[in-house]
Amino acid sequence: MRTVNLPGGEAVPVLGLGTWYMGESRSEFDREVAAVRHAMGRGIRLIDTAEMYGNGGAEEVVGAAIADGGVAREDLFIVSKVLPSNAHHDDVIAACERSLSRMGTDYIDLYLLHWRGAAPFQETLDALDALKTAGKIRHHGVSNFDKRDMEEWLYCRGGSAMAMNQILYNLGRRGPEWDIMPFCEQLGVPVMAYSPLEQGRLAGAPVLSEIARRQGVQPLQIALAWVLAQDNVIAIPKAVDPDHIDQNIAALEIRLSGEDMAALDAAFPPPKGPSHLQML
Ligand code: NAP
Repeated sequence: MRTVNLPGGEAVPVLGLGTWYMGESRSEFDREVAAVRHAMGRGIRLIDTAEMYGNGGAEEVVGAAIADGGVAREDLFIVSKVLPSNAHHDDVIAACERSLSRMGTDYIDLYLLHWRGAAPFQETLDALDALKTAGKIRHHGVSNFDKRDMEEWLYCRGGSAMAMNQILYNLGRRGPEWDIMPFCEQLGVPVMAYSPLEQGRLAGAPVLSEIARRQGVQPLQIALAWVLAQDNVIAIPKAVDPDHIDQNIAALEIRLSGEDMAALDAAFPPPKGPSHLQML
């Protein structure tokens, strides 16, 4: 699979699996574990989760899936996130320990501050740094940070270790192209695009149906192929349905022509100025 590089040069796959809304109901647990295993069986190595999802339940799904999913732990790249309400120093350490325990793993590959809250960045960063030194996380980064948040974080001690900014980015949410994405590119920090399918809502766009019909694929595969065609971007669509997982993996092979890109730009124009970073 194509990869993008973290600032230190480590290669990370451009396609991962999201887990929001997993782990919310015991009756769905086995199906969700099977979905994560199915994705791993099809070559997915990056899994995105968070302590928030299912109130820890999604991390338990991930833990069960990786426990005997047939892939060595060191071949996986697991992302999790600490809530802003747990972003004070000792709370970060405790939250990370709980996440590790729910996932049954000794370390998280990338640990993100889910969005900015009241805790001073320096306090959060000191805790992230301590977790890194202790080998409990390999990298840390941020999520839902606009350019000014990033600048503030980078200005703090240890902030330049920022390995990623995970933000809402898809055809209908192109605002980050104005400032956040060029800034990330300049820093060598990849962007992780969340909700790349706009949670399925992009499916109704006529331009996607038209291009999909020409290419013999599904409209949401075109939406995902467009995200995957952007430089320095990782996409983490969530899917529990195995057919959806397979379709998302197949989107890696879709090549959008200049004509397709122009049609997508016409229907979903790039930003003409700055805007507030949107969140879901
Ligand atoms: P998404 O990935 O854009 O869409 C997920 C929805 O699309 C699910 O309902 C899924 O259905 C459906 N789907 C997936 N592939 C499909 C396909 N090929 N055809 C038709 N439907 C398909 O939305 P998301 O879950 O909000 O975002 C992805 C991940 O990003 C999350 O799971 C989470 O890990 C992360 N995220 C992070 C933040 C943050 O603040 N940092 C915020 C939002 C999301 P099934 O499940 O039924 O297959």
